[in-house]
Amino acid sequence: MTENNNLKELDSLYVANTYAKFPVEIAYGKGSFVWDNEGKKYIDMATGIAVNAFGVADEEWIKAVTDQMLKYQHTSNLYYTEPCVKLAKLLCEKTDMKKVFFCNSGAEANEGAIKAARKYAKEKHGADFYKIITLVNSFHGRTITTLAATGQDSFHNDFLPLTEGFLYAEAGNIEAIKNLIKENKTAAIMIEVVQGEGGVIALDKDYVKALYELCLENDILLICDEVQTGNGRTGMLYGYMNYEVMPDIVSTAKGIGGGLPIGAVMLGEKVKDVLTPGTHGSTFGGNPVCCAGAYNIMSRIDDALLNEVREKSSYIINELSKAKGIKSVTGMGLMLGLETEKDASQFIKECTDNGVLVIKAKNKVRLLPALNIPKEVLTEAIEVIKKVAQ
Ligand SMILES: *Cc1c(COP(=O)(O)O)cnc(C)c1O
Repeated sequence: MTENNNLKELDSLYVANTYAKFPVEIAYGKGSFVWDNEGKKYIDMATGIAVNAFGVADEEWIKAVTDQMLKYQHTSNLYYTEPCVKLAKLLCEKTDMKKVFFCNSGAEANEGAIKAARKYAKEKHGADFYKIITLVNSFHGRTITTLAATGQDSFHNDFLPLTEGFLYAEAGNIEAIKNLIKENKTAAIMIEVVQGEGGVIALDKDYVKALYELCLENDILLICDEVQTGNGRTGMLYGYMNYEVMPDIVSTAKGIGGGLPIGAVMLGEKVKDVLTPGTHGSTFGGNPVCCAGAYNIMSRIDDALLNEVREKSSYIINELSKAKGIKSVTGMGLMLGLETEKDASQFIKECTDNGVLVIKAKNKVRLLPALNIPKEVLTEAIEVIKKVAQ
């Protein structure tokens, strides 16, 4: 009997069926291009869901990662390691946050943020101050607690009961938050400044500022989930920097590692010392290879690059908001959502057939190109998208 080498069949036999996959087998890539196993070339406008910040197989990042790999790949958090400390220092210097806890994913970063907020509120206000308010249509992860934080019932239904203590407010409605705070002993409010999985929807500026002021007045912590919006994606280093607010806790993951799994919980002045020995941890957290790669990525997201991100964003918005078959363009920076006349899944299929990889967010087509996508490659992708839209 010959061995079955059909990847699609083997995947459906052996890999848990948790993802609706596109029928594309990625073989290799370079920068903003990837090739499938049949040699077909695509422009990558999805970057592994905002992960490959500098595209695929970026030389500088590979060097940073492999240099560290040749020294040692892991030690545990029982010893001091340079990549972890260097990255934490860089993040604090760039954000004015004070300390960083490292972990491996967005959900784990949000778990850490929630734990830090609960412990702070317990010590400051009492054990019954544990409620956390999140927004309707938010997405914060898939663990039982971050599912509870996620304000979308459709994610909850099969996994009840979830972690207790989460309340949901309609985004944009400051009165709704005020009422929740009045009636509930609240530790924190957690937001994505641009709701990603919820359909690439940016929160209103005045609303976020009002939220921030409400938090200050009531000693409620503001947590920004910057897993997707972080690390240059919105045209600022972190999404909240578009809003003139200062969160107490920032969680991030996705793009920070440039393709390796790493998450971070950045702790501001109020909460910097709330996590003490034994209260939190993660075996792989601060892994030296991931941190060395992330340090390379984070040190390259400078003002010049952010400026480029904003320019490319304006270009895309200008081109697509007037394009036939596109009803609206939402989002910020290089995190954009297209409301299309065609069904989004059909639209994505046609883009894929025409050599452009894009993904979905709710009923929208989502664009998440590499931060350094060359302008001429971006132009080529936008022309395909315009053609498909008609
Ligand atoms: C992707 C995402 C998460 C979950 O991140 P994982 O690394 O998949 O656990 C959490 N919050 C937001 C805003 C995200 O976009």
